[in-house]
Amino acid sequence: MELACLDLEGVLIPEIWIKFAEKTGIEALKATTRDVPDYDELMQQRLRLLDENGYGLQEIQEVIDTLDPLPGAREFIDWLRERFQVIILSDTFYEFAMPLMAKLGHPTLFCHKLSVNDEGRITDYHLRQPDPKRQSVRAFQLLNYRVIAAGDSYNDTTMLKQAEAGILFHAPQNVIDEFPEFPAVHDYDALREKFLELSTEN
Ligand SMILES: [Mg+2]
Repeated sequence: MELACLDLEGVLIPEIWIKFAEKTGIEALKATTRDVPDYDELMQQRLRLLDENGYGLQEIQEVIDTLDPLPGAREFIDWLRERFQVIILSDTFYEFAMPLMAKLGHPTLFCHKLSVNDEGRITDYHLRQPDPKRQSVRAFQLLNYRVIAAGDSYNDTTMLKQAEAGILFHAPQNVIDEFPEFPAVHDYDALREKFLELSTEN
């Protein structure tokens, strides 16, 4: 039995924090782990900036609702779901991803969660577990699934390694160079072909 695991941001939808920063003009929200290596510090900074700029969950979701999946993403995920059971493994938060998941036809999503108080203010965030993408693939393998995984960045590489087959999609050159063991493709047609090639069932 085969399972397809996909990263979300950079593969099916744009990077949410970057797009949100562009839409709202809050420049400091463009910071990533490259600028602030400590993830907790980065997240606390993001939550503080949302607060200071008066963005509660509802306002954030309204902005995210104006974003669209990457061109061709909906057709790709529909194609993939006809051929594989598909699970999306992401480091985003359910509350942020929801408007975009609707535009992708609500595929199954494993990610993280936010705490929101009665006034709609985001007070905290909760990561599901450490190394969540790899741990998910490991768990599926214990259920006797063979996993083909695709992702675009460093936070996907342990998942790609754990999977029986891993694919880099839309990855920056430095990631491609650092992980030459994974085939790298750059458009959905090539990704479809790669899934078929690496599949033992399709
Ligand atoms: Mg990504």
